[in-house]
Amino acid sequence: MKAIATLGSHCALQVLKGAKDEGLKTILICEKKREKLYRRFEFIDEFILVDSFLDVLDQKYSSVLEQNNAILIPHGTLISQMSSEQIESFKTPVFGNKWILRWESNRELKEKLMHEAKFDVPKSISNPKEINGLVIVKRQGAAGGKGYFLATNETEYNNNRDRLIKKGTISKDEKLYIQEYASGVLAYLQYFYSPLKEELEFFGVDKRHESDIEGLARIPAPQQMKVEDVPSFNVIANSPLVLRESLLDEVYSMGERFVEASKKLVNPGMNGPFCIEGVYDENGNFKTFEFSARIVAGTNIFMNGSPYTTLMYNEPMSMGRRIAREVKNADSSNEIDKITT
Ligand code: AMP
Repeated sequence: MKAIATLGSHCALQVLKGAKDEGLKTILICEKKREKLYRRFEFIDEFILVDSFLDVLDQKYSSVLEQNNAILIPHGTLISQMSSEQIESFKTPVFGNKWILRWESNRELKEKLMHEAKFDVPKSISNPKEINGLVIVKRQGAAGGKGYFLATNETEYNNNRDRLIKKGTISKDEKLYIQEYASGVLAYLQYFYSPLKEELEFFGVDKRHESDIEGLARIPAPQQMKVEDVPSFNVIANSPLVLRESLLDEVYSMGERFVEASKKLVNPGMNGPFCIEGVYDENGNFKTFEFSARIVAGTNIFMNGSPYTTLMYNEPMSMGRRIAREVKNADSSNEIDKITT
């Protein structure tokens, strides 16, 4: 029997609750400072207490995971706190494709995969001198929007960057990524691809509430003009969306193109949960500015299922539970190698 393990943050509660509902043992790798929070939840069977998440790389902890026959579910915290090399060095089987996480963290690789999937991607700009119109400036990795800023020309870029360096939000030698700002309705499309069934499932869609760009939008322009701080895009919460039904066909097609593209570029492809992130314009065309190659925190909204999972399952199905079910199915047909790396 397999156990499901994950880091105590991001979507750990959803993942472990889903695993418990599927009858699997649950293990939380928990920083000591968060122990009190996670002890509140009875569905967590075992705690591996660490001072820092990086400790999980130690033999001492990986052997506990091994003894438990555990599969590690990667999420945003794993990516933001560990390097690609560290993630790739895991001895514990990782659900999905751990090699594709490098493609999520690296902006150039990310862009390459999005183009391979034939997504409409906002243009990236390699030199701040070439900024000519509204751009968003991003950091590498899964920074969650913290330290991002907007600019319309090189001077604004330099001023905002300098302010953030002064504040200590970004470092002086940090490599920033400049992308055309796409306006419209933001949407984060959540999928699950099963290599066992060779089928794509559309799981749900959410929007993010980001501080303090959202706060800024709530005040009238004359007061906005006086705000000197550089607003950030730091995700604070998520809320659900449903799309116009006429958009769904293209939603599936984008997901399938992504699965195909990743099969071509990052063996064994995009298995398990992923998210395509972008903006719908006035004509309902989707511009993709990002993807996440693992479960996203926006799936936490749908712990009891989403409108789209209701169409596929006659029971509450969260992304966490869907992952656990895939593990169970693979275990019973001896195909764990197909769903882990
Ligand atoms: P990301 O880390 O790329 O998901 O970006 C964090 C946030 O920045 C997103 O949730 C959006 O609010 C915003 N954002 C990122 N890229 C763009 C873009 N090209 N155009 C407009 N907004 C963007």
